[in-house]
Amino acid sequence: MDFELTDIQKSLKKVARDFALKEFPPIARECDIKEEFPEQIWKKSSELGFAGAHFPEEYNGANLGFLDEAIIMEELCRVDPGLGLTPFVVGFGSDVVLYHGTEEQKRKYLPGIPKGGSISFLGSTEPGAGSDVAGIKTKAVKDGGEWVINGQKMFITNGTIADWGIILAVTDPDEPKRHRRLSTFIVETKAEGFEATKIEGKMGLRASDTAEIAMDDVRVPEENLVGERGRGFYYIMEFFDMTRIIVAAQAVGVAQGALDMAVKYAKDRETFGQPLASYQGIQFELAEMQTRVEAARNMLYKAAWGVDNGKQNIMAVAAVKWFAAEAAVKNCDRSLQIHGGYGYINDMDIERFYRAAKLLEIYEGTKEIEKLIIARELLK
Ligand SMILES: Cc1cc2nc3c(=O)[nH]c(=O)nc-3n(C[C@H](O)[C@H](O)[C@H](O)COP(=O)(O)OP(=O)(O)OC[C@H]3O[C@@H](n4cnc5c(N)ncnc54)[C@H](O)[C@@H]3O)c2cc1C
Repeated sequence: MDFELTDIQKSLKKVARDFALKEFPPIARECDIKEEFPEQIWKKSSELGFAGAHFPEEYNGANLGFLDEAIIMEELCRVDPGLGLTPFVVGFGSDVVLYHGTEEQKRKYLPGIPKGGSISFLGSTEPGAGSDVAGIKTKAVKDGGEWVINGQKMFITNGTIADWGIILAVTDPDEPKRHRRLSTFIVETKAEGFEATKIEGKMGLRASDTAEIAMDDVRVPEENLVGERGRGFYYIMEFFDMTRIIVAAQAVGVAQGALDMAVKYAKDRETFGQPLASYQGIQFELAEMQTRVEAARNMLYKAAWGVDNGKQNIMAVAAVKWFAAEAAVKNCDRSLQIHGGYGYINDMDIERFYRAAKLLEIYEGTKEIEKLIIARELLK
């Protein structure tokens, strides 16, 4: 067994770290306060080849594996969780086209993502259905050579800045098996009847755009159906089984970043005439934080390696998603505690990390849903 990163992975890690350290600190706090999408980070990270990096070269991608992407994501989010997410989230949902689209769909929609020319979204969640994906109500009805889509989507990342996205809709309401009623469609945001409204006031990850989408008789051509009719639920599950690795990478980065800050502060700050780091109580906290990061990182690399090598393990992906997210939340909490009152003020990065970390336990499958997946596999 070899735990060494390859030379290419080491160099990706360094490029990502150098990029984040140079570009993020000057704007991270402001983007968070103003809830502003970091356009310049999007453009510059696309030039580095980080967006759509796992796409094949024919769609302008760098043909990277999930492990490579996880390493990049980890380094970026170690410096800032909101900005770090940018290069990966701009292509959110596009994998459904990559894995199930026709060649025409791929040629039309994919190449813009790595080039930094277009942004996509994934529209699954609705006001009445989040974890229960098969419970969605958005409908797509065939009318001649078109599909007519009506419904509402909630919490859609990139909703107001995307050019196109994937909408999950009910196409076969009479199908007895509820998981077979759904299909996926490409919908362009300029389509008549499509309206996205920004959701403001998020607790964290505020540089990332989140929107509510309303679709009122949105018409898309027949050829915008992605893959097979009735397979939409399965495509979305398959999608999450891969992208949860990237969320876990985000979480490992946040957990590591929180630890970095705690170590630095504990060395710099003195109480009772000695550095905080000299007290055993603080040392134990740092040791536990380090252990959490290391455990989550090992789980992450193994799960990502499995996806890259045709040995995808659904249980391993679900496990690292909740474990790494919880490690991020715990490390942010402990690190903030070590910062004392200063940690509670937004001059300190740990305050922003703390708010961002919580979302990792919620989106792309809550930690409860991840545990249900693990239990289902265990009890099969
Ligand atoms: C900032 C942000 C960005 C997002 N981006 C997107 C996006 O781009 N696209 C998209 O489609 N969605 C997106 N989401 C939605 C996200 O994936 C959902 O919020 C999440 O899946 C949970 O759904 P819900 O909020 O409806 O909670 P619910 O499903 O109502 O769950 C509420 C609580 O009950 C628990 N629970 C539910 N069912 C069970 C059960 N059977 N057993 C035990 N516990 C259970 C959950 O774990 C949770 O704690 C985003 C959400 C946020 C906040």
